[in-house]
Amino acid sequence: MRKDAPAKVYLGFSDPAGADYDLGDLDGQKRLMAERMAAGGWVIPQLVDHMMDADDFHFYRLSQVRMDSWSQGRVVLVGDAGYAVSLGTGQATSVAMLGAYVLAGELATHRDDPAAGAIAYENELRDYATRNQNTALEYDSKPGPPSGGEPSEAGSDGLPDFGSLTLPFHLKDYSVLVRP
Ligand SMILES: Cc1cc2nc3c(=O)[nH]c(=O)nc-3n(C[C@H](O)[C@H](O)[C@H](O)COP(=O)(O)OP(=O)(O)OC[C@H]3O[C@@H](n4cnc5c(N)ncnc54)[C@H](O)[C@@H]3O)c2cc1C
Repeated sequence: MRKDAPAKVYLGFSDPAGADYDLGDLDGQKRLMAERMAAGGWVIPQLVDHMMDADDFHFYRLSQVRMDSWSQGRVVLVGDAGYAVSLGTGQATSVAMLGAYVLAGELATHRDDPAAGAIAYENELRDYATRNQNTALEYDSKPGPPSGGEPSEAGSDGLPDFGSLTLPFHLKDYSVLVRP
């Protein structure tokens, strides 16, 4: 981040029951967040004060996208649009980038039939994307770091060890991508 750029912060809370909030009511969403952060220590009260005045506040629940199919003819979904993983594992960008790589490779492999390339892409990646989503669900449903006190050392803050959540994926060598 640039030295003089404004800091951006996101706060979250676990709510298995599903908080009731109005999508169009930003002030209500801010109040809900402030209530849930009321017990927060460290700089949380300061952040909540800034949040109340922020004009770029955004509030939403963590979500996954699970589609029955990732393509229809030549229209293909990649990344979050087709298989958003959610935050639990820190792997969503990797899955999206692998998706782009595999889609490019399969389209090049099926150069004369893009729809078949799109189906081959899904066959290649779906299992990996679903396993990442299942892992994320497992971690999203666990309680987050304690909201009070000082930030702690890595590993003792209740966050998962993101490195250990990296799932293996065999990258095909799409040499067809290289034009002579
Ligand atoms: C708060 C937060 C924290 C995250 N932390 C992590 C993390 O630590 N690690 C991780 O791996 N992932 C993380 N993610 C998830 C990660 O950001 C996404 O999985 C990833 O960006 C998906 O890439 P994408 O290209 O599919 O979608 P996006 O990055 O959302 O890109 C879609 C693009 O399409 C553009 N667009 C939308 N509609 C239109 C339109 N009609 N016409 C033209 N353009 C359009 C958008 O402006 C955007 O630039 C986080 C996400 C959030 C919200």
